[in-house]
Amino acid sequence: MSQVPQHKFQLDESQMPTRWYNVLHDLPTPPPPVLHPGTGQPVGPEDLAPLFPMDLILQEVSTEQYVDIPDEVLDVYRLWRPSPLYRAHRLEKALGTPARIYYKYEGVSPAGSHKPNTAVPQAFYNARAGVERLTTETGAGQWGTALAFACAQYGLGCEVWQVRASYDQKPYRRMMIETFGGTVHPSPSELTAAGRAILAEHPDSTGSLGIAISEAVEVAAQDPTTNYALGSVLNHVLMHQTIIGEEALLQLAQAGETPDLLVGCTGGGSNFGGLMFPFLREKWAGRMNPTVRAVEPAACPSLTQGTYAYDFGDTAGMTPLMKMHTLGHDFVPDPIHAGGLRYHGMSPLISHLYETREIEAVAKPQTECFSAGVLFARTEGIVPAPEPTHALAAAVEEALRCKESGEEKVILTALCGHGHLDLPAYDAYLSGRVVDHAWEDADIQAAVAEALAKLPTLA
Ligand SMILES: *Cc1c(COP(=O)(O)O)cnc(C)c1O
Repeated sequence: MSQVPQHKFQLDESQMPTRWYNVLHDLPTPPPPVLHPGTGQPVGPEDLAPLFPMDLILQEVSTEQYVDIPDEVLDVYRLWRPSPLYRAHRLEKALGTPARIYYKYEGVSPAGSHKPNTAVPQAFYNARAGVERLTTETGAGQWGTALAFACAQYGLGCEVWQVRASYDQKPYRRMMIETFGGTVHPSPSELTAAGRAILAEHPDSTGSLGIAISEAVEVAAQDPTTNYALGSVLNHVLMHQTIIGEEALLQLAQAGETPDLLVGCTGGGSNFGGLMFPFLREKWAGRMNPTVRAVEPAACPSLTQGTYAYDFGDTAGMTPLMKMHTLGHDFVPDPIHAGGLRYHGMSPLISHLYETREIEAVAKPQTECFSAGVLFARTEGIVPAPEPTHALAAAVEEALRCKESGEEKVILTALCGHGHLDLPAYDAYLSGRVVDHAWEDADIQAAVAEALAKLPTLA
């Protein structure tokens, strides 16, 4: 009798991790501090208080190794967690590779992506602090959807500025946000000074995450009952996402495997960090030795072509200055289909790990990504969101390398969302309307240098 291959590695609810992992505790060297643009000094909790509740500010700077997940958050997590880990037998077979490919699937959440893992605790801590409304930005609409759902759990209002290009291309995300009770504005909008300034100069602006962040921050900063929530980039966001990696560690152990390669897509770095950080902890403890590889779009290559420097998180320059890999805060990437990866910067934690060679990075053109996404859909039966097709393209590339060399590598990737509301992007690809945007290194260096020259001088 032939052995039946196991596809799905599932944990019971009772095995769901009850703590988030804080990578700051274990970093071989600490990352540079976040700076106040006016004083050039590290920001303190009081600088962030107009935007965030104290619980989240303390998590942002915490160096405790673990933070307990509140019961009220665990309770909501249980609607879809623990999420499944799959072995991609059919994809492996189609590639003819001896590599073993595993994917951790976050598309089972209410928003269809990993974003609710942080939206839920952010809404919870804000509600507990007496806040009445949250504002935010969204690109493809994944984060806005997740935050609208999370706000509905705790009775908060939710107002979302959605990047114009996605607002027009992806109406179903707006409808889903509204169904969860949120309000959506296309960004740039006439509702804020930041939006009006962009529209005055570029009436046809397709928007960017940086612009939408400026609008959402502006509204929250002016209203004491309103706070702002960010879907990626910040330390506390990446920490909330570590539930992905903690579960995956248990599931891979169930499968009897240790990974040789971890690969994930990076927009602001949260799904990538969430999967990788617990594995990096194990690596630093000497229990495994995987290569960790970030994959970004060639059209928005902040790690591979950006500069490691202090820059604003938003376009109008309202956020603190973060040391990160950046394309310049006024960078407006081409409207590629992976809207969640169109951010000018990269999480300071991920940037720091890249600088210190703990992780590596590659950039992929979107046609190669869609090709991997279609192969994945036809073999594994899940249509991936355009963002994780970047990770899949890199996983396929490695699996084909293994086919050449005969190596039986264990590859783990984050399938951080499904693409059911991104089908127009697949339609465009299948009918030959998707083109690649890449940057000449000299052009990008000049643009970044120009943007950074506009920054306040730091002491
Ligand atoms: C938001 C999003 C991303 C990009 O954000 P990260 O913080 O880099 O994870 C990637 N994939 C999906 C499905 C998203 O919704």
